[in-house]
Amino acid sequence: MRVTGLPPYDPNNVFAKILRAEIPCRKAGENDHALAFHDINPQTPVHVLVIPKGAYVSVADFSATATEAEIAGFWRLVGQVARELGLEGGGYRILSNMGEDGGQEVPHFHVHIFGGRRVGRMVP
Ligand code: 5GP
Repeated sequence: MRVTGLPPYDPNNVFAKILRAEIPCRKAGENDHALAFHDINPQTPVHVLVIPKGAYVSVADFSATATEAEIAGFWRLVGQVARELGLEGGGYRILSNMGEDGGQEVPHFHVHIFGGRRVGRMVP
């Protein structure tokens, strides 16, 4: 099923290239359905991106069309990586930008994990 209003998935986006190992990344974790790696331009001492291995543009098509196994695998990896990076004590923020108004730059669904310092309230 395609979600109307979304651009078609671009198989040449940078995260697709990371999944195909055409671009290197510093891996933070992986399971059958998702990959986690450190952001190339970290905004906090720990800044990790978690992406599904399937071809999803954003949370819109991921939430509407991914299988339950993909959704479970994705969210399990988010929690696991945060735990393994030692963020649970101090806490952390997860965030996903969607579309133009959300400021999404890479058109492959991803969640940011920010931690390692107090990040404060987000001002839109
Ligand atoms: P967005 O604005 O789409 O939510 O965030 C995209 C994120 O991807 C940015 O934080 C940016 O620094 C990160 N990014 C872009 N290109 C690369 C790359 O080639 N490698 C890694 N590790 N991160 C990238």
